[in-house]
Formats: sequence, structure tokens, C-alpha cells
Amino acid sequence: MWIVFECPSCHVTGVNEVVAQTEQLRCPQCSWQRPVAEANRSAAEPVNCVVCGCEDLWRQKDFPPRIGVVIVGVEVLVSTYFWWMMMPKAWLGVLLLFALVDGVLYTLLRDVLVCYRCGARHRHTPLEGRHGYFNLETHERYRQEMLRLDEAKRG
Ligand SMILES: [Zn+2]
Ligand SMILES: [Zn+2]
Repeated sequence: MWIVFECPSCHVTGVNEVVAQTEQLRCPQCSWQRPVAEANRSAAEPVNCVVCGCEDLWRQKDFPPRIGVVIVGVEVLVSTYFWWMMMPKAWLGVLLLFALVDGVLYTLLRDVLVCYRCGARHRHTPLEGRHGYFNLETHERYRQEMLRLDEAKRG
């Protein structure tokens, strides 16, 4: 599993690979490190965020949303063109082709787990359905918590 995270100490974005032998998650820049829990080292879906320990993670499609929009846009244009040219076979072919492209992208680009609290991304991890998709309420809860912490810091 790969962890893409922002270092809590120096705020540099780093990538760490966590394998069975990884005992510490380290910042590439400063001396920040954090032990990796045993449960998160095995080849299973992580229990909690490897960076901050938060148990709320959400599942995100690891697929830049802009590319998805472009693909759908092209599909609509091309299929409309064939529809207007009265070429039902070509039109159907386009629809099938895009369904195929979509399926391939879906398998190639696996989902990632994102931490609600610190935003760390856990990539290349097996997904067993432990964590759900984005939930606005949970997100809001963490956002409020962050705001409170910020205020407390400022005094
Ligand atoms: Zn650091
Ligand atoms: Zn986290």
C-alpha cells in the first residue's frame, strides 16, 4: 500500500510505501515518524489512517474527475453525431465502446481510501468494503473539529 500524505510537522507532501516489514511511516523531509500499526501492515484493507490514526476513511475513485468528464463529453458528441447521421449500428458501437473503456478504467484505476481528518490517501490497498463512500455529515464533523482546534490554537 502507498500512503500519500502531508507531513503533520513540516507540511511537505510525501509518499511512503507500507509493506509487511514497514515499522515506521517517515517524512521524506524532516524527522517526523509514526509507527505503523500491525493491522495496517498486512495485505488487507487498512483499519484506520496510517498517518493520524483516524478511523474514518472514505473511498474515492482514483481517477481524475476531469478525465471522466472529458470521456463522457466525447461519448455524447460522437454518439449524437452517428444518431443524426442515422447510423444506428455505429451509434450502438460507440455506446458499447465507451462502456468498455469505462469498465477497463474502473478495473485499472482502483479506489483509494482518503482520511477525513488529515486527507492522507491510501493507494494500492485491498478493499473489502470496510470503509464507505464519501459522507458529507462525517466530513462536516471533521471540518468543525478542525475549526475548533484552530481556534483553540489561536487562543
Ligand atoms: Zn516533515
Ligand atoms: Zn489521517
